[in-house]
Amino acid sequence: MITFKIGGVHPHDNKIAKEAAIAPLAPPAKVAISMAQHLGAPATPVVAKGDKVLVGQVIGEPSGFISGFVHSSVSGTVAAVEPRADIAGNMVPHVVIDVEGDEWDPAIDRSEAIVKEIKGTREEILDKIKACGIVGMGGATFPTHVKLNPPAGKTAEFLIINGAECEPYVTADDRLMREKPEGIVIGAAIMAKVLGGCKCFICIEENKPEAIAAMQKACSGYPGIEVLKLKKKYPQGGEKQLIDAVTHRQVPSGALPIDTGCVVQNVATSYAVYEAVQKNKPLFERAMTVTGQCVPEPRNFQVRLGTPLSFVLEAAGGVPADAAKFISGGPMMGKAVANMDATTQKGSSCLLLLTEEQTRRKPESNCIRCGKCTDACPMGLEPWLLNKLSRAGGQYEALEENKIFDCIECGCCLYTCPANIPLLDMIRINKAEVMKIIRSRAKK
Ligand code: SF4
Ligand code: SF4
Repeated sequence: MITFKIGGVHPHDNKIAKEAAIAPLAPPAKVAISMAQHLGAPATPVVAKGDKVLVGQVIGEPSGFISGFVHSSVSGTVAAVEPRADIAGNMVPHVVIDVEGDEWDPAIDRSEAIVKEIKGTREEILDKIKACGIVGMGGATFPTHVKLNPPAGKTAEFLIINGAECEPYVTADDRLMREKPEGIVIGAAIMAKVLGGCKCFICIEENKPEAIAAMQKACSGYPGIEVLKLKKKYPQGGEKQLIDAVTHRQVPSGALPIDTGCVVQNVATSYAVYEAVQKNKPLFERAMTVTGQCVPEPRNFQVRLGTPLSFVLEAAGGVPADAAKFISGGPMMGKAVANMDATTQKGSSCLLLLTEEQTRRKPESNCIRCGKCTDACPMGLEPWLLNKLSRAGGQYEALEENKIFDCIECGCCLYTCPANIPLLDMIRINKAEVMKIIRSRAKK
């Protein structure tokens, strides 16, 4: 079966929320919408305290080439524009809005009708995607209009729609594919048109048979779009791993997917593109999983962006007494959240709760040179060596030589290590340092 060649692991998928349909979550009394919901420069707020806003109204404008528009997810009155801690703990500008009713911008098509005919030129479509604030919703949050506009001399041969959802526990994409397959396919057709009519593959892991069936049915009538069933293997959804699995092409160290003729977009992004271009709907809400064995009612919600995590959790039955750790994302690549007042963003696919028992680290022992971490690394790195150099301190040149910057922070090495060495912790810290050095060298 189709998969990537190097490394990978097989954690239990724990998709315990997979049968819970995406339920709309009513807005809370107050939202705090981050201006830094995308990769690149934060948006500049264009509203002030006391302003009235509608659902879908622009409240932040891009402040650079890699940046994005931000829209209000609610109707109401702006209560403040102020710095607040986001999910990652960074202090960034937020627009705080007191919610009043639920009045949408009348330009948004709220009907259930599927709009198939794709109108507009390439430039008009790109402008619409930009104006609607669409970013990669698989977690990277790279502005979609930039990714769909390759630099001169680069051409996309393949558009790969990522429905792998290989992270354990997360089920938001699975549900979206089962519930909104036609929109996802039309979104893919729009992006393929923008990219010059390239071949499109929608890639789904074998553990989602209902999603595969729904997407295959929706693809009939679209000869350029095909569903590929992939082997279940983590991190199948990594961009480079997906490109390898589908095209057998390797993205060289330091290169981008477009250098191999590929553009990868997540299924949720594809649906957001459909809504933007065909329904004139900006990205102000998304599907999000709230899950974990200790969660009273693991669910998938359609949440307005800017909703406090504590509010989302309440809708899933509240904070369980035995919850010890809150993670934004899945257990392999997700990040711990300390502040439950932080609010949902465009990249928020999952809120996972783990008990103390599930998070307890086993005692670390010495490396026994078993090589399991090297075998598991999907980037062909030597995690034991990167860890050793990282712990020695100041070994940035050697770390760069050993390609620490290629680490995708997937956690496969950590998952396999029989000595319970926190390999990724040390690698992550030192990777950030090496990246800083590389960036400052490039500026000179
Ligand atoms: S976290 Fe980095 S070093 Fe570890 S397996 Fe993944 S890519 Fe390799
Ligand atoms: S898996 Fe752990 S014990 Fe084995 S070589 Fe890697 S770091 Fe050492």
